[in-house]
Amino acid sequence: MDLLNTLVDKGLRRELPTREEALAVLATSDDELLDVVAAAGKVRRKWFGRRVKLNYLVNLKSGLCPEDCSYCSQRLGSTTGILKYTWLKPEEASQAAAAGVAGGAKRVCLVASGRGPTDRDVDRVTRTIEAIKEQNEDVEVCACLGLLSAGQAERLRAAGADAYNHNLNTSEATYGGITTTHTYADRVDTVQQAQAAGMSACSGLIAGMGETDADLVDVVFSLRELDPDSVPVNFLIPFEGTPLAKEWNLTPQRALRILAMVRFVCPDVEVRLAGGREVHLRSMQPLALHLANSIFLGDYLTSEGQEGKADLAMIEDAGFEVEGADTTTLPEHRADALAGGCGGHGGGGCGPCGDGGAEAVPETAVAEAGAPAAGAGEVRTDLVAVRRRGAGTDLPPNA
Ligand code: SF4
Repeated sequence: MDLLNTLVDKGLRRELPTREEALAVLATSDDELLDVVAAAGKVRRKWFGRRVKLNYLVNLKSGLCPEDCSYCSQRLGSTTGILKYTWLKPEEASQAAAAGVAGGAKRVCLVASGRGPTDRDVDRVTRTIEAIKEQNEDVEVCACLGLLSAGQAERLRAAGADAYNHNLNTSEATYGGITTTHTYADRVDTVQQAQAAGMSACSGLIAGMGETDADLVDVVFSLRELDPDSVPVNFLIPFEGTPLAKEWNLTPQRALRILAMVRFVCPDVEVRLAGGREVHLRSMQPLALHLANSIFLGDYLTSEGQEGKADLAMIEDAGFEVEGADTTTLPEHRADALAGGCGGHGGGGCGPCGDGGAEAVPETAVAEAGAPAAGAGEVRTDLVAVRRRGAGTDLPPNA
């Protein structure tokens, strides 16, 4: 396919595809799917080899959130029946983190529900980061605490946070339909604050919320412009008890196309296969390793993932290897920019963001761009298990 040859060439050169090319990836047929995966896999291997980075989530504070993000089981008014608890003590969080590190994770993601941290919350997280780094100084710590206020990013950086996560989630045009208690611009601002403070930015999306192909391409192009170092790709888990409970829109094939599109648009960025992988990719998960170079080990914030040892076996069986703590995840040019405190991530200051010339693309891609994405996915509520182990319980974590 000319389209795929063009996208591979551009990905190897870190050149931005056109919107039409990105849309065309989403419009490919099931007959073309393996060709799409193989093409995006070449780009993945160029920048990340066959390495898979493992990340481990620790939910520091669960539920009880005053915000109304429709996709979230921790939202105001959620009746999902998730674990609800307030801040874990630093030693509890560090114990949970240690289980993930022992399982092979090189990054620990400390997440707290809520609109954003108070200064007292930043103090708590500071003590938690210290406790984790005392146990293992090499582990990368990413904080995910919501919207940041002035000075908080600098305080987290000084406390030893290597990265900050705040997802854009969906396109600017549809953001107001998903959340009303804060704005898309608030989210962009927090990612930029984290970058300006010298933290590695992690920002991604949630697919499957009823968005169009054009929305997906919009949010991924916005992410490319924002230039985070890692892009988590979540697939909506339609929790019973949330407004999006009926949105079963994804098939394994569509999930793979979305990951391929993200890889082509963000070729040298850590693309992380995140929440919903077991629910939506199901037995196709190993193919996704040809596209993403990073996954979460074990459980998610409020739902259970597959067993940590099944994650490790899948990586090995698919011919990939777990990335060691002594290996730098990012390609040299990105790692150097981060180490040099290059704050110009926004606006493409560090990466080549040139728009390539328009290529011929299938008409279907353009015609369908503004329509709701085609094809409902199978309803698999049987695969959605609310987390009942690990942080906030007496049971050992899954790692
Ligand atoms: S995504 Fe975060 S801010 Fe939104 S409802 Fe969930 S916990 Fe609250």
